[in-house]
Amino acid sequence: METLQGKTAVVTGGASGIGRATALQLAREGAAVTVADLNEAGGQGVVDEIKEAGGRAIFARCDVSQTADCKRTVEETVAAFGGLDILFNNAGIIRRADVLDTTEAEWDQVKAVNIKSIFLMSKYAIPHMAAAGGGSIINTGSGWGLVGGGDAVSYCASKGAVVNMTRAMAIDHGPQNIRVNCICPGDTDTEMLRNEARQLGQSDDTFLEGAGDRPLQRIGTPEDIAQSVLYFAGEQSAWTTGAILVVDGGGLAG
Ligand code: NAD
Repeated sequence: METLQGKTAVVTGGASGIGRATALQLAREGAAVTVADLNEAGGQGVVDEIKEAGGRAIFARCDVSQTADCKRTVEETVAAFGGLDILFNNAGIIRRADVLDTTEAEWDQVKAVNIKSIFLMSKYAIPHMAAAGGGSIINTGSGWGLVGGGDAVSYCASKGAVVNMTRAMAIDHGPQNIRVNCICPGDTDTEMLRNEARQLGQSDDTFLEGAGDRPLQRIGTPEDIAQSVLYFAGEQSAWTTGAILVVDGGGLAG
Protein backbone atom coordinates (compact mmCIF):
# COMPACT_ATOMS: atom_id res chain seq x y z
CA MET A 1 0.00 0.00 0.00
CA GLU A 2 1.27 3.50 -0.84
CA THR A 3 1.52 5.41 2.44
CA LEU A 4 1.90 8.93 0.98
CA GLN A 5 -0.86 8.88 -1.61
CA GLY A 6 -2.23 12.42 -2.10
CA LYS A 7 0.74 14.07 -0.38
CA THR A 8 3.21 16.52 -1.90
CA ALA A 9 6.90 16.69 -0.97
CA VAL A 10 9.79 19.05 -1.67
CA VAL A 11 13.27 17.52 -1.49
CA THR A 12 16.18 19.95 -1.52
CA GLY A 13 19.45 18.55 -2.80
CA GLY A 14 17.24 16.05 -4.62
CA ALA A 15 19.56 15.63 -7.61
CA SER A 16 22.11 13.44 -5.84
CA GLY A 17 22.89 11.08 -2.96
CA ILE A 18 20.51 11.07 0.00
CA GLY A 19 18.13 13.58 -1.62
CA ARG A 20 17.87 11.56 -4.81
CA ALA A 21 17.20 8.29 -2.97
CA THR A 22 14.58 10.01 -0.80
CA ALA A 23 12.81 11.65 -3.75
CA LEU A 24 12.54 8.23 -5.41
CA GLN A 25 11.35 6.61 -2.16
CA LEU A 26 8.69 9.26 -1.44
CA ALA A 27 7.44 8.98 -5.02
CA ARG A 28 7.24 5.18 -4.73
CA GLU A 29 5.01 5.75 -1.71
CA GLY A 30 2.66 7.86 -3.83
CA ALA A 31 3.81 11.41 -3.06
CA ALA A 32 4.12 14.03 -5.79
CA VAL A 33 7.69 15.31 -5.52
CA THR A 34 9.49 18.56 -6.32
CA VAL A 35 13.18 17.87 -6.83
CA ALA A 36 14.88 21.14 -5.86
CA ASP A 37 18.56 21.54 -6.66
CA LEU A 38 21.23 23.66 -8.28
CA ASN A 39 22.13 20.70 -10.48
CA GLU A 40 19.62 20.90 -13.31
CA ALA A 41 20.73 17.83 -15.28
CA GLY A 42 20.87 15.61 -12.21
CA GLY A 43 17.58 16.91 -10.86
CA GLN A 44 15.78 16.50 -14.16
CA GLY A 45 17.16 12.95 -14.32
CA VAL A 46 15.53 12.12 -10.99
CA VAL A 47 12.25 13.65 -12.19
CA ASP A 48 12.41 11.52 -15.34
CA GLU A 49 13.05 8.39 -13.26
CA ILE A 50 10.02 9.12 -11.09
CA LYS A 51 7.79 9.77 -14.09
CA GLU A 52 8.98 6.66 -15.93
CA ALA A 53 7.94 4.64 -12.86
CA GLY A 54 4.46 6.21 -13.03
CA GLY A 55 4.94 8.89 -10.38
CA ARG A 56 4.46 12.65 -10.38
CA ALA A 57 7.42 15.05 -10.12
CA ILE A 58 8.76 18.42 -11.21
CA PHE A 59 12.23 19.95 -11.09
CA ALA A 60 12.78 23.35 -9.46
CA ARG A 61 16.12 25.03 -10.07
CA CYS A 62 16.87 26.32 -6.60
CA ASP A 63 19.87 27.70 -4.80
CA VAL A 64 18.65 27.05 -1.25
CA SER A 65 20.72 29.92 0.11
CA GLN A 66 18.70 32.42 -1.94
CA THR A 67 15.37 33.82 -0.75
CA ALA A 68 13.81 34.23 -4.20
CA ASP A 69 14.68 30.66 -5.23
CA CYS A 70 13.20 29.16 -2.05
CA LYS A 71 10.02 31.20 -2.41
CA ARG A 72 9.65 30.24 -6.08
CA THR A 73 10.26 26.56 -5.35
CA VAL A 74 7.39 26.51 -2.87
CA GLU A 75 5.14 28.49 -5.24
CA GLU A 76 5.89 26.17 -8.17
CA THR A 77 5.15 23.14 -5.99
CA VAL A 78 1.81 24.46 -4.83
CA ALA A 79 0.90 25.51 -8.39
CA ALA A 80 1.78 22.06 -9.77
CA PHE A 81 0.36 19.83 -7.06
CA GLY A 82 -2.10 21.96 -5.07
CA GLY A 83 -0.29 21.99 -1.72
CA LEU A 84 2.82 21.09 0.25
CA ASP A 85 2.80 18.47 3.02
CA ILE A 86 6.39 17.27 3.37
CA LEU A 87 9.58 19.35 3.26
CA PHE A 88 12.91 17.53 3.31
CA ASN A 89 15.57 20.18 4.01
CA ASN A 90 18.54 18.17 2.84
CA ALA A 91 20.83 20.18 0.53
CA GLY A 92 24.24 20.61 2.09
CA ILE A 93 27.93 21.20 1.48
CA ILE A 94 31.09 20.47 3.44
CA ARG A 95 34.44 22.22 3.72
CA ARG A 96 37.08 20.00 5.31
CA ALA A 97 39.30 22.52 7.11
CA ASP A 98 40.00 23.94 10.56
CA VAL A 99 39.50 27.58 11.58
CA LEU A 100 42.88 28.63 10.20
CA ASP A 101 42.32 27.15 6.75
CA THR A 102 38.65 28.08 6.36
CA THR A 103 38.15 31.41 4.61
CA GLU A 104 35.46 33.80 5.74
CA ALA A 105 33.68 33.30 2.41
CA GLU A 106 33.68 29.50 2.93
CA TRP A 107 32.35 29.92 6.48
CA ASP A 108 29.50 32.10 5.22
CA GLN A 109 28.72 29.76 2.32
CA VAL A 110 28.52 26.64 4.51
CA LYS A 111 26.23 28.47 6.93
CA ALA A 112 24.04 29.77 4.10
CA VAL A 113 23.60 26.41 2.36
CA ASN A 114 23.34 24.24 5.48
CA ILE A 115 21.40 26.50 7.89
CA LYS A 116 19.83 29.55 6.24
CA SER A 117 18.31 27.25 3.61
CA ILE A 118 16.22 25.53 6.28
CA PHE A 119 15.04 28.88 7.63
CA LEU A 120 14.09 30.10 4.13
CA MET A 121 12.43 26.94 2.81
CA SER A 122 10.47 26.50 6.03
CA LYS A 123 9.41 30.16 6.07
CA TYR A 124 7.65 29.75 2.72
CA ALA A 125 6.42 26.18 3.22
CA ILE A 126 4.89 26.46 6.71
CA PRO A 127 1.92 28.70 5.77
CA HIS A 128 0.79 26.11 3.20
CA MET A 129 1.15 23.27 5.71
CA ALA A 130 -0.72 25.22 8.38
CA ALA A 131 -3.54 26.01 5.95
CA ALA A 132 -3.89 22.29 5.17
CA GLY A 133 -4.01 21.28 8.84
CA GLY A 134 -0.44 20.11 9.24
CA GLY A 135 2.73 18.81 7.66
CA SER A 136 6.12 17.23 8.21
CA ILE A 137 9.50 18.93 7.97
CA ILE A 138 12.60 16.76 8.07
CA ASN A 139 16.03 18.38 8.37
CA THR A 140 19.28 16.63 7.50
CA GLY A 141 21.74 17.05 10.32
CA SER A 142 24.79 14.83 10.75
CA GLY A 143 26.59 12.81 13.37
CA TRP A 144 28.81 15.88 13.40
CA GLY A 145 25.85 17.91 14.62
CA LEU A 146 26.07 15.88 17.85
CA VAL A 147 29.81 15.36 18.29
CA GLY A 148 32.78 17.28 16.93
CA GLY A 149 35.02 16.14 14.08
CA GLY A 150 38.46 17.19 12.87
CA ASP A 151 39.04 19.62 10.02
CA ALA A 152 35.37 20.41 9.53
CA VAL A 153 34.70 23.37 11.82
CA SER A 154 32.19 25.21 9.61
CA TYR A 155 30.31 21.98 8.87
CA CYS A 156 30.18 20.91 12.54
CA ALA A 157 28.93 24.37 13.50
CA SER A 158 26.26 24.26 10.82
CA LYS A 159 25.00 20.79 11.68
CA GLY A 160 24.90 21.58 15.41
CA ALA A 161 22.65 24.48 14.46
CA VAL A 162 20.43 22.22 12.35
CA VAL A 163 19.92 19.89 15.31
CA ASN A 164 18.86 22.63 17.69
CA MET A 165 16.79 24.64 15.22
CA THR A 166 14.85 21.43 14.62
CA ARG A 167 13.85 21.43 18.30
CA ALA A 168 12.98 25.15 18.25
CA MET A 169 10.83 24.75 15.14
CA ALA A 170 9.08 21.72 16.63
CA ILE A 171 8.07 23.83 19.64
CA ASP A 172 6.87 26.75 17.53
CA HIS A 173 4.85 24.79 14.98
CA GLY A 174 3.54 21.81 16.95
CA PRO A 175 0.26 23.63 17.64
CA GLN A 176 -0.28 23.83 13.86
CA ASN A 177 0.26 20.06 13.64
CA ILE A 178 3.52 20.62 11.78
CA ARG A 179 6.09 18.10 12.95
CA VAL A 180 9.79 18.94 12.65
CA ASN A 181 12.36 16.18 12.99
CA CYS A 182 16.02 15.67 12.15
CA ILE A 183 17.98 12.78 10.66
CA CYS A 184 21.66 12.58 11.56
CA PRO A 185 23.34 10.30 9.03
CA GLY A 186 26.74 8.79 9.53
CA ASP A 187 29.11 8.36 6.58
CA THR A 188 26.97 7.54 3.56
CA ASP A 189 28.24 6.65 0.10
CA THR A 190 27.47 9.82 -1.87
CA GLU A 191 29.32 12.41 -3.93
CA MET A 192 29.79 14.46 -0.75
CA LEU A 193 31.83 11.72 0.90
CA ARG A 194 34.01 11.31 -2.20
CA ASN A 195 34.47 15.07 -2.31
CA GLU A 196 35.67 14.96 1.30
CA ALA A 197 38.27 12.36 0.34
CA ARG A 198 39.55 14.68 -2.40
CA GLN A 199 39.64 17.69 -0.04
CA LEU A 200 41.73 15.65 2.40
CA GLY A 201 44.02 14.35 -0.37
CA GLN A 202 42.99 10.72 0.13
CA SER A 203 41.84 8.16 -2.41
CA ASP A 204 38.10 7.45 -2.46
CA ASP A 205 38.69 3.77 -1.74
CA THR A 206 40.85 4.35 1.35
CA PHE A 207 38.50 6.99 2.70
CA LEU A 208 35.34 4.95 2.16
CA GLU A 209 36.95 1.85 3.66
CA GLY A 210 37.91 3.78 6.80
CA ALA A 211 34.40 5.19 7.05
CA GLY A 212 33.01 1.65 7.31
CA ASP A 213 34.75 1.11 10.66
CA ARG A 214 31.64 1.04 12.90
CA PRO A 215 29.55 -1.65 14.64
CA LEU A 216 27.58 -2.60 11.50
CA GLN A 217 30.89 -2.66 9.57
CA ARG A 218 29.88 -0.77 6.46
CA ILE A 219 29.15 2.77 5.37
CA GLY A 220 25.56 3.78 4.77
CA THR A 221 23.70 3.81 1.49
CA PRO A 222 21.48 6.72 0.48
CA GLU A 223 18.58 4.25 0.67
CA ASP A 224 19.36 3.55 4.36
CA ILE A 225 18.78 7.23 5.06
CA ALA A 226 15.74 7.54 2.76
CA GLN A 227 13.93 4.86 4.82
CA SER A 228 14.29 6.98 7.94
CA VAL A 229 13.06 10.09 6.15
CA LEU A 230 10.04 8.08 5.04
CA TYR A 231 9.29 7.27 8.69
CA PHE A 232 9.22 10.97 9.61
CA ALA A 233 7.28 11.92 6.46
CA GLY A 234 4.33 9.65 7.11
CA GLU A 235 1.69 8.94 9.72
CA GLN A 236 3.81 6.26 11.42
CA SER A 237 5.51 9.13 13.26
CA ALA A 238 2.32 11.12 13.94
CA TRP A 239 3.27 11.78 17.60
CA THR A 240 6.97 12.42 17.00
CA THR A 241 8.35 15.93 16.76
CA GLY A 242 11.63 17.55 17.78
CA ALA A 243 13.30 14.15 17.48
CA ILE A 244 16.90 13.66 16.41
CA LEU A 245 17.41 10.26 14.80
CA VAL A 246 20.96 8.99 14.38
CA VAL A 247 21.24 6.67 11.38
CA ASP A 248 24.87 5.63 11.27
CA GLY A 249 25.42 1.89 11.60
CA GLY A 250 26.18 2.42 15.29
CA GLY A 251 29.04 4.85 14.69
CA LEU A 252 28.12 7.08 17.63
CA ALA A 253 27.08 4.21 19.90
CA GLY A 254 30.32 3.97 21.80
P1 NAD B 1 25.48 14.97 -2.33
O1 NAD B 1 26.63 15.85 -2.65
O2 NAD B 1 25.34 13.68 -3.05
O3 NAD B 1 24.11 15.78 -2.51
C1 NAD B 1 23.98 17.11 -2.11
C2 NAD B 1 23.05 17.80 -3.10
O4 NAD B 1 22.85 19.15 -2.64
C3 NAD B 1 23.63 17.90 -4.51
O5 NAD B 1 22.67 17.46 -5.46
C4 NAD B 1 23.95 19.36 -4.68
O6 NAD B 1 23.81 19.83 -6.02
C5 NAD B 1 22.90 20.00 -3.78
N1 NAD B 1 23.27 21.35 -3.37
C6 NAD B 1 24.46 21.81 -2.91
N2 NAD B 1 24.39 23.13 -2.70
C7 NAD B 1 23.14 23.52 -3.03
C8 NAD B 1 22.47 24.76 -3.05
N3 NAD B 1 23.09 25.90 -2.67
N4 NAD B 1 21.17 24.79 -3.46
C9 NAD B 1 20.55 23.66 -3.84
N5 NAD B 1 21.13 22.45 -3.87
C10 NAD B 1 22.42 22.40 -3.46
O7 NAD B 1 25.59 14.76 -0.76
P2 NAD B 1 24.70 13.93 0.30
O8 NAD B 1 25.67 13.14 1.07
O9 NAD B 1 23.54 13.27 -0.33
O10 NAD B 1 24.25 15.13 1.23
C11 NAD B 1 22.90 15.36 1.58
C12 NAD B 1 22.85 15.86 3.02
O11 NAD B 1 23.29 14.82 3.89
C13 NAD B 1 23.73 17.06 3.32
O12 NAD B 1 23.02 17.97 4.14
C14 NAD B 1 24.89 16.46 4.09
O13 NAD B 1 25.50 17.38 4.95
C15 NAD B 1 24.19 15.36 4.84
N6 NAD B 1 25.07 14.30 5.34
C16 NAD B 1 25.75 13.51 4.49
C17 NAD B 1 26.58 12.52 5.00
C18 NAD B 1 27.37 11.60 4.10
O14 NAD B 1 28.23 10.88 4.61
N7 NAD B 1 27.14 11.60 2.80
C19 NAD B 1 26.69 12.35 6.39
C20 NAD B 1 25.97 13.17 7.23
C21 NAD B 1 25.16 14.15 6.69
